[in-house]
Amino acid sequence: MRALICGAGIGGLALAQRLTTSGWEVTVVERAPGPRQQGYMMDFFGLGYDAAEAMGLLPRLGELGYRLDDVSYVDSSGRRRASLDYDRFARLVDGRLLSIMRPDLERALREQVEGDIVLHYGRTLASVETLPDGVRAVLTDGTVLEADLLVGADGIHSQVRAMVFGPESRFVRYLGLHTAAYVFEDPHVRRQLGNRFAITDTVGRQMGLYALRDGRLAAFAVHHDPDPTIPDDTRAALRGTYSTLGWVVPRALERCPPPSELYYDLVAQVEVPQWHRGRVVLLGDACQAVSLLAGQGASLAVAGAYVLGQQLAAGGPVEDALARYQQAWKPIVEAKQEVGRRGAKWFLPSSRARLWLRRASLKLTALPGWDRIAGQGLVGKTHLSLTDIAADAARLSSMQSLALAEASGTKVPRAAARTSGTQARLEESDR
Ligand SMILES: Cc1cc2nc3c(=O)[nH]c(=O)nc-3n(C[C@H](O)[C@H](O)[C@H](O)COP(=O)(O)OP(=O)(O)OC[C@H]3O[C@@H](n4cnc5c(N)ncnc54)[C@H](O)[C@@H]3O)c2cc1C
Repeated sequence: MRALICGAGIGGLALAQRLTTSGWEVTVVERAPGPRQQGYMMDFFGLGYDAAEAMGLLPRLGELGYRLDDVSYVDSSGRRRASLDYDRFARLVDGRLLSIMRPDLERALREQVEGDIVLHYGRTLASVETLPDGVRAVLTDGTVLEADLLVGADGIHSQVRAMVFGPESRFVRYLGLHTAAYVFEDPHVRRQLGNRFAITDTVGRQMGLYALRDGRLAAFAVHHDPDPTIPDDTRAALRGTYSTLGWVVPRALERCPPPSELYYDLVAQVEVPQWHRGRVVLLGDACQAVSLLAGQGASLAVAGAYVLGQQLAAGGPVEDALARYQQAWKPIVEAKQEVGRRGAKWFLPSSRARLWLRRASLKLTALPGWDRIAGQGLVGKTHLSLTDIAADAARLSSMQSLALAEASGTKVPRAAARTSGTQARLEESDR
């Protein structure tokens, strides 16, 4: 079987790894001219961490990743106003947590498939034709590719989604924030920051800085803006919005690269009612973006790829595997999206009162019992494992066989329940 994956990001590369292990031939097309160098620091935990372990990826992630001590919220003179104890955060997820730069996670995933897949950089899809048993795609360089499955793993502004499922406006829910990130060098800022992760303790906009082990710094910025239009000159917009935050921020902004190298986007979630159409399926942010407010998008992209790969490896009609993937995985994503939306007001306070409340609640994290409450807020109330999800999909598979047998006129007892087990368990735990 042949798969064409659009997007060599986290989800696309993770799926490529899963498919090659079950004998698929995989071609990936990536719009960027080469592997990404710029990016941001991400927390990586939850189901994606479990999937990474099952994929044999954890040792490499351990080498490339970081263990933070704490997160400091600092005022305009760099003084600590509040902090988040990272060890306690790690304990909430049984220590199964690391922080990793997005390009490093992509690198680890790419290393796993090097030599096993065909990867075309600097190209994308010019057109897609759906066939009864597959797709025919023409790339922007004129290459024609036929495949049994086309996967749209091309992020929040997915082109595959636009070509096959409908315009972006139908699926992207803007959350009222813009975000930006870049990596830079500045020994002075590095000395001021030390070895910590610090975020400005500010209202309506905040900038965070991480010290990387090679001496560079990773900057990350987020601000409220009711207008979902991305500015033409993103660097100028960034400087205009953040330059009065004090501390080392003006100096960090001086080192901001030109717009072509700067990551700048809207903070948004993606909600697509049907993730698959014929032999085309969506994966990762293209169908399930939870936004940086949920802090789990990359983790869920890896886990979603794992679940999809598992269903495709199970054999049977491809369309049935795609249906099982959606039924078993979508309820999990929807629960995480809700957690993300609920956390928005804490992530970036919109008033001085809310800023004060955030400081106070961070102090409460030292109290006994906090772990249990925060655990629910962070990972949701439900702790489903990949094994639970696989079992659920297997149940759906036997229901599919049941339906097929019924359709062919065979008499079979109706034992299976109609709702997805994942859905039922999510509802149960939310009661
Ligand atoms: C500032 C910030 C902080 C974040 N922090 C965290 C965190 O702490 N933890 C976490 O788990 N997640 C975090 N996330 C979310 C995470 O980065 C995303 O959810 C994740 O990258 C989604 O992976 P993906 O593979 O679906 O999409 P992407 O990583 O966006 O990859 C899509 C790929 O497709 C390519 N592409 C796009 N269009 C085309 C096209 N037309 N043709 C070919 N290729 C194309 C892109 O170049 C890219 O390589 C954060 C996001 C941001 C913005």
